[in-house]
Amino acid sequence: MPATLIRGKPIADRIRATVAEEVTELGHVGLVTVLVGDDPASEVYIRLKHKAATEAGFDAQDVRLPGDTSEADLLARVEELNADDAVDGVLVQLPLPKQIDEARILRAIAPLKDVDGLHPFNAGQLFLGRPTLVGATPLGVMAMLHEHQIELDGARAVVLGRSDIVGKPMAQLLMQANATVTICHSHTKDLPRHTLDADVLIAAVGVPALVTADMVKAGSVVIDVGINRTEAGLVGDVDPGAEDVAAYFTPVPGGVGPMTIACLLQNAVRAARFRRGELAFPG
Ligand code: NAD
Repeated sequence: MPATLIRGKPIADRIRATVAEEVTELGHVGLVTVLVGDDPASEVYIRLKHKAATEAGFDAQDVRLPGDTSEADLLARVEELNADDAVDGVLVQLPLPKQIDEARILRAIAPLKDVDGLHPFNAGQLFLGRPTLVGATPLGVMAMLHEHQIELDGARAVVLGRSDIVGKPMAQLLMQANATVTICHSHTKDLPRHTLDADVLIAAVGVPALVTADMVKAGSVVIDVGINRTEAGLVGDVDPGAEDVAAYFTPVPGGVGPMTIACLLQNAVRAARFRRGELAFPG
């Protein structure tokens, strides 16, 4: 029997509608995205984020800097945004050009404006079980699992990928939901041994169709975070054939993608509430 499809759009639409109401209630929420250079994929992501933020009523600023911007100039720009009381959230789109040390930039963003959850403060808070601002993609995955009442307590969850933006925070959130979590990565030997054991499998690798149907446990939940541009169009990290084995399955496109933007907007509202003292800060 084919899997139940977990589509992101209806859930994301609901989140975005709630966010829009909250922005109206708050009166003003400022979200600034910063794009350095003209990487085409980043360009698309920034455009989508900016459009969604504007539609939700944010005061959204789309800062574009030339590809040869120096690290010092970008740091100065970030400092300005940190100091600007009208700015609640700051997102610097990655990857940055090679003359800029990404880690230095991410550490410079004010932790309570860090809507991507990449500042060591926010990463540390999550690690210590006090999530403050958490990356939008793993939050989106958790919302999808919650929507479909997927039991995580005691479940075996396997996360493919250990990036700071998806894999690591994803594993932390699943562990905090009482799943038993395994993280696999490019050096993992015998991937199927791990994936076949997964009640919940999250693929965030960036390799088209890495996960084939014979690597998926029957009746499991498969969440495909991958977005890969191929000649055949956008494809995920999971072969669509796995749909016949899994009980739940996310399509690509239309699965996790819409959730990321919705949860980013949610993070910006959360950041605004922290700074206004309306939301208790998990210190
Ligand atoms: P990344 O390149 O930073 O990390 C990839 C991870 O995959 C690494 O940790 C690496 O160790 C692991 N890996 C590589 N080859 C592997 C293999 N053969 N087996 C097991 N693990 C392997 O990528 P990322 O930023 O985490 O993104 C991963 C994918 O998710 C990409 O396709 C990206 O486009 C997509 N993505 C989607 C969204 C969304 O909104 N849906 C958001 C962020 C990223």
